[in-house]
Amino acid sequence: MNYTQLAHECLTRADELAACTESPGILKRTFLSEPMRRAHALVRDYMQGAGMQVRVDALGNIVGRLEGKGPKAFLTGSHLDTVPDAGKYDGMLGVLIGIAAASAIGAQNLAYHFDVIGFSDEEGVRYKMPYLGSLAVAGLFKAEYLARVDERGVTMADAIKNFGLNGEDFKSAAYNFADVAGFAEVHIEQGPVLEAEGLALGAVTGLVGQSRVKLFYRGLASHAGTTPMRGRRDAFTALSELNVFVEKYALSIPNLVATVGMAQVRPGGANVIPGEVYFSLDIRHGDQPVLDRATEVILGEATAIASRRNIEMVIETQEAQAVVKCEPLLVNKMASAMEFHSHRPYRLASGAGHDTAILSKVTPTAMLFIRSPGGISHNPIETVTVEDVAAAIEVFVTFLRSL
Ligand SMILES: [Zn+2]
Repeated sequence: MNYTQLAHECLTRADELAACTESPGILKRTFLSEPMRRAHALVRDYMQGAGMQVRVDALGNIVGRLEGKGPKAFLTGSHLDTVPDAGKYDGMLGVLIGIAAASAIGAQNLAYHFDVIGFSDEEGVRYKMPYLGSLAVAGLFKAEYLARVDERGVTMADAIKNFGLNGEDFKSAAYNFADVAGFAEVHIEQGPVLEAEGLALGAVTGLVGQSRVKLFYRGLASHAGTTPMRGRRDAFTALSELNVFVEKYALSIPNLVATVGMAQVRPGGANVIPGEVYFSLDIRHGDQPVLDRATEVILGEATAIASRRNIEMVIETQEAQAVVKCEPLLVNKMASAMEFHSHRPYRLASGAGHDTAILSKVTPTAMLFIRSPGGISHNPIETVTVEDVAAAIEVFVTFLRSL
């Protein structure tokens, strides 16, 4: 099998898909937008060329099936929607590599049916809610989502109808997971780790969990000239102290990342002591106990700083996204497939969310990461090399044959 040729084909197809956009000059393709129709026509063509039967489900996921011996199916896939001003590979490359693997394997050569899914929405741009496609496939989509409206006031139900589908029928998009052996997603890393390790590929062990907190520090605004330094209740100074602590603490725990990404200083005058600051904390780690402990320590320090500085602290919202673990047996098979082709069986946790997070709730999962040169994604300069894509297809085919 000529994997380099298959890789070149994937990259050409990524260019073709990137031409299906809502905004000329940049790539933007959201849930069931008009250009998604053209993307579906292309993907249908690619799937049929690989010998697959193609269907589109009620939530607009396009599914190609390579018939194997059955009765169970093994699934792969990724998303066909994009963020605004996206790169060409986030999501799409996973679908294209799935199709390339199907054409490399050919019909009747697998112990199970092999389904490649192009999810209609993962980024959540249009309805401010991610994973619409994989939620439906996983049987976790809820009827109430259909009432959500986009920026133009179009309900999700109408968007689905305009695309020629019936959203009310969302239950039919779900698999019966008794008949599913698992799900494996190929995706660009979207970070710098593999490049720093000098590696083309990585076996993903799971997806990091996340704590998201939005909170206020409230002190007292007053005149920057007439108020002496002692006794000030400067909310922004309190946040500054906290942020230095956050960095120091995160550096002390392997693989912990913690960020104050948003801070609004009020009233925001150059000659006024900040009376209030509204800010966010984003804390992520691949192990739930470490994440829980980090959240506790950072919020504990936030409280201590507030009380030392006579500042009020109010938590507005606190959300948690649990750590997702891939199935160790499948992760081992992915690592073995890498080793078989002379790649170091490097394992890493994903720092970003993926459709795999949703499928993990209902079936065993694995992921294969491909090096992102420069570590850049969600940006038009996002890229991959043809060598890395060829390596990914080869390893993925070996993985699928090992199941
Ligand atoms: Zn993605």
